[in-house]
Amino acid sequence: MTKDEILYYLKTHHEVDMYGIFELADRVRKRYCGDGVHLRGIIEFSNCCVRNCLYCGLRRGNGRARRYRMTVDEVYQVAECAVDAGVKTIVLQSGEDPYYSVSELCRMVERVKELDVAVTLSLGEKSYRDYRSLKEAGADRYLLKFETSDKRLYALLKPDSSYVNRFRCLEYLSELGYQVGSGNMVGLPNQSSESIADDILLFGMLELDMVGIGPFIPHPDTPLGGFNGGSSGLTVKVIALTRILTRNAHIPATTALATVDPEGRRKALCCGANVVMPNVTPFSYAADYEIYPDKLTEDTIDGAKKLVSSVGRYVAKGYGHSLKMGGNVNIPTH
Ligand code: SF4
Repeated sequence: MTKDEILYYLKTHHEVDMYGIFELADRVRKRYCGDGVHLRGIIEFSNCCVRNCLYCGLRRGNGRARRYRMTVDEVYQVAECAVDAGVKTIVLQSGEDPYYSVSELCRMVERVKELDVAVTLSLGEKSYRDYRSLKEAGADRYLLKFETSDKRLYALLKPDSSYVNRFRCLEYLSELGYQVGSGNMVGLPNQSSESIADDILLFGMLELDMVGIGPFIPHPDTPLGGFNGGSSGLTVKVIALTRILTRNAHIPATTALATVDPEGRRKALCCGANVVMPNVTPFSYAADYEIYPDKLTEDTIDGAKKLVSSVGRYVAKGYGHSLKMGGNVNIPTH
């Protein structure tokens, strides 16, 4: 698809056009990914973060956040329950929290790998050496969303982060043999349709194994608390266009989408998504992992299974590894 075509579909409200795009995205998903939906259980093991992203409730400047950290043993126990319930991938996610040494994180990965699951990490930016240690410990995949391809917007939203380093990290991960995921937010303040079209093109250019797309949801305890959030309708369009462009990337129906629209995940599954990521963090902690407000905390594996069967699909049995045959992350030059 060209940028002009993507822009046309992002902007149109014409029902026939939209139906055509959603239907095509569903056909592409069926052809390249099949009808199986992969369940990934997310454990948010620490909500402490040294960074200060303007949109995020975990930002270090948010003095109202109740902080927590889980031990390796706690993480293992939660992972074991999720695996017993049928999950074949555990996603270990946290803010950028230097409290955990790399050796401790490696120990966490090694323990969880004892459960015969794929392990995805989502721990933010790290050095090449740290990523290598975590890979050697057994991590299979890494999620690092670039959030927006617009350099100027990125600098505003993430004032203590570097756009170039973000993409360098994605390149390191690819070099080290991780299955690499990235993604964006839809409906950010000052985000143009052109910028969203660039995000979609970049997903294709990076040859990502996984693409996470969610609406921006303003958190009241952040500097962006007074802005409007992204809509479910636009987010689903971005998912559909991304499916058509990337063909076989794993694309989740995100929790953020379910937060803005109770039917959001069902819509996403019917327009290109092939993954659901139930949050298996213990309820006592999950309520405090508040990147955005009103997040679903009672997100169960059984609920995810019901969601999958409600759209006439089935829960995939395997680990749900990448459907790509490899490929490198290319650093954007614009
Ligand atoms: S988006 Fe990530 S890096 Fe930024 S403040 Fe939130 S948890 Fe930290």
